Amino acid sequence: ERASRAAAPLTPGALADGTSVPLLANLGNPDEAKHAVDLGAEGVGLFRTEFLFLGEAEAPSVERQREAYSRLLQAFEGKKVVVRVLDAGADKPLAFLSDAHEENPALGLRGIRVLRQRETVLRDQLTALQQAAEQAPGTELWVMAPMVSDVEETEYFVELAKSLGLRTVGVMAEVPSLAVLAEQVVAACDFVSIGTNDLTQYTLAADRLLGSVASFQDPWHPAVLRMIKLLGDAGNAAGTPVGVCGEAAADPRLAVVLVGLGVTTLSMTPAALADVRAELATVTLDEARGRAERALGARSAADARAAASAPA
Ligand code: PEP
Ligand code: MG
Repeated sequence: ERASRAAAPLTPGALADGTSVPLLANLGNPDEAKHAVDLGAEGVGLFRTEFLFLGEAEAPSVERQREAYSRLLQAFEGKKVVVRVLDAGADKPLAFLSDAHEENPALGLRGIRVLRQRETVLRDQLTALQQAAEQAPGTELWVMAPMVSDVEETEYFVELAKSLGLRTVGVMAEVPSLAVLAEQVVAACDFVSIGTNDLTQYTLAADRLLGSVASFQDPWHPAVLRMIKLLGDAGNAAGTPVGVCGEAAADPRLAVVLVGLGVTTLSMTPAALADVRAELATVTLDEARGRAERALGARSAADARAAASAPA
């Protein structure tokens, strides 16, 4: 069945009733772009930029960064590319930025928190992105910040990025406080992208790197689904796009539930695109909403999985 799917035409993501759900790729390096395009990625929903910084004694120059971003944007001519600014700290420690002595690095200085303290690093990255966008006018560049906790941090990032010439600026929703404040946040930025890996870790208070609590790292948990619903509802009311770029989007049955919760785009590892595309095509928006509702009422992740699969 896999072979026949791979051979099928790479149609854009859509539900059985024609509702469009763009399917995007998560990439960590411009070299991965061609493979994603071959698998039918309609753009990039999460470009992780840490690869440029890993193992470096200092931040890469604007020039070097621009070159990498240009290659990425050129590979997605005519499409949308969402780039996340550097997410240093916790599971992504960087020698020159992260404090190795934090006792709870996941709750420490990471993501936008570090960049705000070291604003030159952020300004250089945004400058390189803006220059790359200018060189690739046929590609739509969106930029977003990781680990944003509230509307004040959202406004800080949006204002800085726009002052440097970036046009479409958003935030990742991966801290529960941002979901709780969803209405304020969607009014203050152009889009939101839900990082379900961290959102699950922080909602369930279970370190995503710790094997002994790995069973808590389950985005089917109804508490996580309710966080996502807060964001989906707020986004729909304000007309602000809300995507998902965490691992949850790569689980075909959960992808359907996410759409039912109001999520408008799904971004995943390219290998998952075919299965998610196939599953979405089997349900209407009404059915997706029905499954989402049943999952929201569940008492556990396992119950939510079962409830979403049961016939209506
Ligand atoms: C996430 O947290 O869901 C996410 C997409 O970002 P990362 O896995 O890089 O932290
Ligand atoms: Mg994250």
